[in-house]
Amino acid sequence: METNYLIIGQGLAGTLLAHELMKANESFVVIDKFNESTSTKVAAGMFNPISGKRMVKSWNADALLADTFKAYTELEKLLNCKLLFKQNIYQLFGSVKEQNDLSSRMDNEDFSQHVNLFPNKEPNLNDAFGAFEIKETGWVYTRALIEKMRELLLSNNCLLDQDFDYQNLQQLTDGWQYNDIKAKYVVFCQGYKNKDNPYFNYLPFVLCKGEVFTINCSGLTKDKMIKKGIYLVNLYDDVYKVGATYEWNDLTENTSEQGKTFLEEKLNDFLKVPYEVLKHEANIRPTTKDRKAIIGEHPKHKNMFVLNGLGTKGVMHAPYLAKQLLDLINKNLAVDKEISINRFDKLIIHQN
Ligand SMILES: Cc1cc2nc3c(=O)[nH]c(=O)nc-3n(C[C@H](O)[C@H](O)[C@H](O)COP(=O)(O)OP(=O)(O)OC[C@H]3O[C@@H](n4cnc5c(N)ncnc54)[C@H](O)[C@@H]3O)c2cc1C
Repeated sequence: METNYLIIGQGLAGTLLAHELMKANESFVVIDKFNESTSTKVAAGMFNPISGKRMVKSWNADALLADTFKAYTELEKLLNCKLLFKQNIYQLFGSVKEQNDLSSRMDNEDFSQHVNLFPNKEPNLNDAFGAFEIKETGWVYTRALIEKMRELLLSNNCLLDQDFDYQNLQQLTDGWQYNDIKAKYVVFCQGYKNKDNPYFNYLPFVLCKGEVFTINCSGLTKDKMIKKGIYLVNLYDDVYKVGATYEWNDLTENTSEQGKTFLEEKLNDFLKVPYEVLKHEANIRPTTKDRKAIIGEHPKHKNMFVLNGLGTKGVMHAPYLAKQLLDLINKNLAVDKEISINRFDKLIIHQN
């Protein structure tokens, strides 16, 4: 079988890339081993242009946000299901200092346009220090996205549910051979499993495990996401996703007692109403040393590419990254230097 693109992995990275290829009428095959738990499937799917402890506008936020709204709206139409939920974040202050820090930054219009200092009070939350809202935020139902796209790809005969075996990949003068598939380009979109990839395992990932709960809780807002150290996102009815932990040492996919205690303590700190934990899940974020994504061509193997390092913000980055990668491949347009694989070229000297 001949195809233009062979994509390994159908998480957010592989899915958004497949979507761009469909729009461009390009042929592709995706190889993805079904896994009940992946980073994309357990994620709450939040996007937020203002982030981090210092609450600064993140890298390239306006462009990323524009692509986020566009891509997931298109995907909703393609997959015929609701995926994109535009909702403000109702964020509780943790101290008077936090209040003062935020107020002092409201002179900066680039920042203040995203903030509402006087939201309506939420009755069932402990808000001793008050709250504010962040605008132009929301969440994407990532599990539904992956599942629906998988169904579509299977029905179009362009997804193979199997483990990719590196031993069977051979370089040709004009592309790659993988078993009976001849592809012009191979693109690895493997999330944290990039660690097992003999071609790209030189890239400096600093992986980060995250644990989340799904809870049932009544009496909370369903129109906004709630945040104080952790977040609550209303999935449906009275069911909320709650997360997340950040753990750099235990990189198993198992849930932990420590993660459970952390989430429970945070919930008990600001919820005035009881809740029931329905599910506890864990997975690994593909975070990198400099916290930026990584896209581009392998420095030694022509026509082999990577789209990875989506980190803690995969939802907001994946659409932009998929477009940049295809512009590189098809139009030879340079990738933004902050996310280019070239920044790690000196690390590859030991690979054959
Ligand atoms: C607890 C938690 C909460 C999060 N919350 C958010 C959030 O609110 N907002 C946000 O933007 N991001 C969030 N993230 C991060 C987000 O999940 C990731 O950035 C993103 O989903 C990574 O997508 P990916 O496609 O790179 O990887 P993955 O989702 O891991 O997908 C990779 C796919 O490749 C497949 N694969 C890999 N190797 C092979 C192989 N050899 N053969 C076959 N298949 C293979 C895997 O099975 C998988 O299906 C969260 C992550 C976690 C863990």
